[in-house]
Amino acid sequence: MKRVALFPGSFDPFTKGHYDIVIRGLKLFDEIIVAIGQNTKKQRYFPLELMIEKVTGTFEKEDKISVVTYNELTASFVKKFDARYLLRGLRNTTDFEYENSIAQMNKYLNSELESVFLITSPEYAAINSSIIREVHRYDGDINVFLPYTL
Ligand code: ADP
Repeated sequence: MKRVALFPGSFDPFTKGHYDIVIRGLKLFDEIIVAIGQNTKKQRYFPLELMIEKVTGTFEKEDKISVVTYNELTASFVKKFDARYLLRGLRNTTDFEYENSIAQMNKYLNSELESVFLITSPEYAAINSSIIREVHRYDGDINVFLPYTL
């Protein structure tokens, strides 16, 4: 059976830290689906269409990686792809607290689903989407943090 993992997130924006997790995940999984969540209550900073285009372009040569968007419970959405793994990244204890709660809830909602965590590579540990948004808001150059050019 193929090992399919979903990598869910807001990816607002998708960063080199996210990219690193996906590429390293390829050693563990046969297929990785980057799933950009559309939270109706949370206003995005970078438009969804732009992020789909950039992330799809970033992985265009990787046939094991695809990009989708979704607006439902992650634990239910995975069933559409027969994905049994959720891939997530961990930078620090703050991430751990948050990821732990989400993973427990996802396990409750879908007992077949396993969350798999990769510890961030040290060079990307400080890359944080919300700080990148602030830098961009005040006209700072953020391209060094992204695996594509904005
Ligand atoms: P969410 O809105 O679900 O927290 P994010 O888009 O912020 O989604 O992040 C998606 C996943 O990537 C999360 O597991 C997060 O911890 C992880 N992540 C974010 N930035 C990095 C980074 N620099 N290195 C490794 N993992 C990261």
